[in-house]
Amino acid sequence: SQKSSLELTELSQAQSLMKPRDPLSNKGTYGRLLCICGSEGMAGAAVMSAKAAVRCGAGIVDVALPRTIYPIVASQIVEPVHTLLDYLPDGTMLSDSRSALQKALQKAKVCLIGCGLGCGKETARIVCEIVSDSKVPLIIDADGINVLAENINILKTVRVPVVLTPHPGEMARLMKTTVEDVQAHRFEYARSFAAQYNVILVLKGAGTLIAEPNGMVHLNPTGNAGMAKGGSGDVLAGMLASFIAQGNDPVAAAVGAVYLHGEAGDRCARRFSQYAMLPTDMIEMLPGLFLELE
Ligand code: AMP
Ligand code: MG
Repeated sequence: SQKSSLELTELSQAQSLMKPRDPLSNKGTYGRLLCICGSEGMAGAAVMSAKAAVRCGAGIVDVALPRTIYPIVASQIVEPVHTLLDYLPDGTMLSDSRSALQKALQKAKVCLIGCGLGCGKETARIVCEIVSDSKVPLIIDADGINVLAENINILKTVRVPVVLTPHPGEMARLMKTTVEDVQAHRFEYARSFAAQYNVILVLKGAGTLIAEPNGMVHLNPTGNAGMAKGGSGDVLAGMLASFIAQGNDPVAAAVGAVYLHGEAGDRCARRFSQYAMLPTDMIEMLPGLFLELE
């Protein structure tokens, strides 16, 4: 039977992601996350998503990225391992890099793709290949969504849980409509898209909606306009992927991560102001928040 209710997320749902860590556990216990994120001009997206993922407890984070931006990313975050990708001058990826990426995907428990990825032809090919071949859950954000918008039928080939995290502009591209139309029909569109394509659809913005394929929709109460800055979405994507890597159900991870991300944003607004707060401040706010929730 199709559910069709709207549920306001409660703190306890976020708290349920913060299970006590087994004293005898090791990094393998907490999952390996592959992030295919970042490109020349958008190294920061790879940094922010990976930092957020590490801060949320994932065991190992592997950031696959163009070799040209590796020094920048590695100078900003040292915890991840990296899969370095080489490209020919015409923009196609070397075959060694393609197999390295396949191997990285085989080792991963979950894959985040899209933050700062760019929308070149080769990028589109890689996104489509991963979407149709992946045997692990996928979180698709930003340029990954922009690629899907041009190849929407590829979603019908997916055999794994998929979480899409569009902002209203990306949702408009997915649905071939305008941002105004999306904003006027947020609930309806999130709900129908999730059901039609059998994905978990996170429609971001004030009052983020998380729509399940079964018709259930969750409304998030946290967050503020200080988060309306480039980079906030990369932080959310990394958090969400990290919680899935740790074995949480993808819906629970999406609902809880959106809540925690907004709560971190609200704490940043109180501490730094909505004007001055940065997406990276939200990551730095997580330790204090988790200390209270654990
Ligand atoms: P992105 O546009 O991909 O960087 O994502 C922006 C992030 O900030 C999403 O998590 C949004 O839900 C959040 N955000 C942006 N504007 C607002 C707002 N006015 N109120 C609450 N959250 C917001
Ligand atoms: Mg974004």
